[in-house]
Amino acid sequence: ALDHSLVLDWLRRVSTAMHQHRDHLIHLDSAIGDGDHGANMARGFSAVRVALDAPSPPPASPGAALSAAGETLISTVGGASGPLYGGAFRTLGAALGTEPEVGTRRFAAGLTAALATMQRLGAAVPGDKTMIDACSPAIGAFRAAAEAGAGLPAAACAAARAAEAGMQATIPLQARKGRASYLGLRSIGHQDPGATSACYVFRALAEAAG
Ligand code: ADP
Ligand code: MG
Ligand code: MG
Repeated sequence: ALDHSLVLDWLRRVSTAMHQHRDHLIHLDSAIGDGDHGANMARGFSAVRVALDAPSPPPASPGAALSAAGETLISTVGGASGPLYGGAFRTLGAALGTEPEVGTRRFAAGLTAALATMQRLGAAVPGDKTMIDACSPAIGAFRAAAEAGAGLPAAACAAARAAEAGMQATIPLQARKGRASYLGLRSIGHQDPGATSACYVFRALAEAAG
């Protein structure tokens, strides 16, 4: 089951990954965007870490911690990715409520609600060359595993693998949403930065759960 300390471990690992891969995300966003995605993610998840390490009052449930992370991302990250990631974490937190332990199926339902928020806010569908191309297959794989009776580690592992494949699959796509869409055909041949950062989010979950 997913508890408060697992969520803190997950978010800390996300922050570490965003710093580790900051320059790679900047490089990817420089090719088809404005080059700030690595800085946006590193700044946002640093702020999440600070917010969760010094909470007053401490968010003692997974849901409260994830909601706080979402609020922090919304208020510290501009651009397209801030509201999308922030809204997703906030929806996930709200869906988990205030229970101290969350089962894998309940978490799958929360992830599905978070995906719906991202798609409502950004109006992107799979194939538009956005973070949705990693998040949608990852969350689909998580839910399928959970419905088949898998525990959190196995479901998170399946999600991380699907996110990775979805990220790779953005390379040949033409962008239809976000700044990269302004490039038209010239967006083809580049990996989407947001799909790449989304991959780190699911990889961190698999590591925290494993
Ligand atoms: P900005 O493009 O505003 O500078 P970032 O560079 O932080 O913001 O994030 C860019 C990423 O946001 C893109 O690589 C893409 O994955 C994602 N993105 C952009 N627009 C959308 C959208 N409408 N729906 C989903 N994801 C989007
Ligand atoms: Mg950018
Ligand atoms: Mg920007």
